[in-house]
Amino acid sequence: MPSDIQLSSAPFIERLNQAALQTAMDRLRVKPHLDFIDWAPLNIRNPDGTPFRFRPTQLQVAKDLFNPNLYSVTLKAYSGMGKTYLIGAAFAYAIEQLGLLVGAMMPNKVLVEDWINDELQKVFDATPVMASLGLSRDIRGQKLFTNGAELHGVGANSSGLIRRLQVDVMFSDEIDAITQTSTDEGDKLGQFEKRGRGRKKQHMWRTSYPSMKGASKIDAKYYETDRCAWFVVCSECGHQYTFHTSQMIWTPGRPDTAHLICPGCGTKIDESQRLQMAGAGQYLTRKKEPLKPGGLHRGFHVGCLAHTGDHNNAYGEGFLHEVAAEREAADKAENPEKSKRVFVNTMDAESYAEDVESKPEADSLYDKREVWSEPDPFVELPPGVLMITMGVDVQKDRLEAMIVGWGANSESWLLSYRSLHGSPQSQKTWNQLDRLRLKKFKHPLTSQPMPVVCVFVDSGHWTTDIYQYTRPRLRQGVFACKGSRTLSCPLMSNKPTKQGRPPALLYEVGTHEAKDLIYQRLEFTPPAGKDFPMGYIHIPANEEFGETAGGEATGFFEMLLAEDSQMKRCTKTGEFVRFFDCPKGTRNEALDCFVYAMAAARKMNPNFERIAENLGK
Ligand SMILES: [Zn+2]
Repeated sequence: MPSDIQLSSAPFIERLNQAALQTAMDRLRVKPHLDFIDWAPLNIRNPDGTPFRFRPTQLQVAKDLFNPNLYSVTLKAYSGMGKTYLIGAAFAYAIEQLGLLVGAMMPNKVLVEDWINDELQKVFDATPVMASLGLSRDIRGQKLFTNGAELHGVGANSSGLIRRLQVDVMFSDEIDAITQTSTDEGDKLGQFEKRGRGRKKQHMWRTSYPSMKGASKIDAKYYETDRCAWFVVCSECGHQYTFHTSQMIWTPGRPDTAHLICPGCGTKIDESQRLQMAGAGQYLTRKKEPLKPGGLHRGFHVGCLAHTGDHNNAYGEGFLHEVAAEREAADKAENPEKSKRVFVNTMDAESYAEDVESKPEADSLYDKREVWSEPDPFVELPPGVLMITMGVDVQKDRLEAMIVGWGANSESWLLSYRSLHGSPQSQKTWNQLDRLRLKKFKHPLTSQPMPVVCVFVDSGHWTTDIYQYTRPRLRQGVFACKGSRTLSCPLMSNKPTKQGRPPALLYEVGTHEAKDLIYQRLEFTPPAGKDFPMGYIHIPANEEFGETAGGEATGFFEMLLAEDSQMKRCTKTGEFVRFFDCPKGTRNEALDCFVYAMAAARKMNPNFERIAENLGK
């Protein structure tokens, strides 16, 4: 065919026409017609040069990505299913073989441009037919190929770009992390999916990890489909079902003993049987019916136990053991609820059902108070205390101060809770705080008295008076702090900001994260033996944590438990986090003081092992 094309005899015109000619030749190139599933193993190369192979759970998805009789394909898959790579290979096919206009939307511009230029580019570079394809335009969010194909990446936050888009393939990734803001002109995903050129070859693909039950976009889209899932068959009883991490059992601390239980007959399934069953599985609808060839929206759900690819050998000989180890790690994480949520979202590829707000009752906390060998911690500390901090809440007629001891295993001991009466504008009030702050505690393992090493004072109000107090006491570890306005702010992250001259240091505290930890930890029940759970909060049975705080016996605990929480989506990160709110007119100073003392401990970030060693000397 190229030999039939005649060039102008004028050399300069020839040069001018070179690019246009190349484009024309690329467009005219006659290709053997291959389906994606046949083309990919022949043409796509992994970055290490080996040919691409579909995994069992990818094959049906790959067939349906280019099935012209489906309206859309929705994929809820575990982390490690190879979704990104599969879509990358499909992009290469759409561009090289079909010459289509391909669009990818991710929650923001940076994500999509990084994906195109790092992940996708790796596949393209390793694949000879892609590497040899000419480009007439190559910028971070846009690639125009000389065969007429185009690749566009847009962030869900770029409404203007989305409006101008004209594509044949509409791929939206991480749709559960797309945040809606008050300035939005409606649903971002809906806007993007209207940008099709309306031809027969139009394809709509959506993927995401699910987020919270009831708020998950990928769940909502999946429910509009034929709802297919990866079904396996028990070799003992013939029961056909889907794998789920809730079918796993293992000896605590021994993820290498993990196995599965068949929900049909109760038979133990070991790793080699799991692998065999997973590989022989198939997608069926939730009603166990075979997939229809078209005329509908297709949805796939696949959890991690269907995995047949690589795994990390560190936890035992198989992938099953790795999953058990990950689950154990989530249970032991500093914020276990958050870690379990991530596990459910990324391993089971399911949305997470929020626990009905969980916090203990004031009465039960009062009953859990401990009788220490010495009821007054100033006279003798519990031996586990290795560092002491203080949190101060400022009210118009008093300061409230809590002193907290910290030890290994994130355990803490509430040591003192005092109300210091007087106006924050009066020096006398602050003198009282100095007297309390400079008191020292006697530790049973050392003759050295233990001081309060760091104090955080809330500077939300009476800011000038608070800076006046903290400024000259910087070297004694006294700092101003304020709660962060950002929902997902970590408990303690940023460097302090300098306020005024000479500067007072102001720390930003992630109050929601701190309260989430405190409420989770207050729920722990004391163990029968000596091993307290990680993060256990010890409260002494003395007057300060009873009758003298809050007026009645459980008053202190009612303040500590004053706030209610709900899950909210952070507009900055798209993550769901617990948001705390204090009902109007309810006292919550005890909780605030604990939050500030916890942030002060986090700021110190000491090496408890070394402190413990030195104490014994
Ligand atoms: Zn069975």
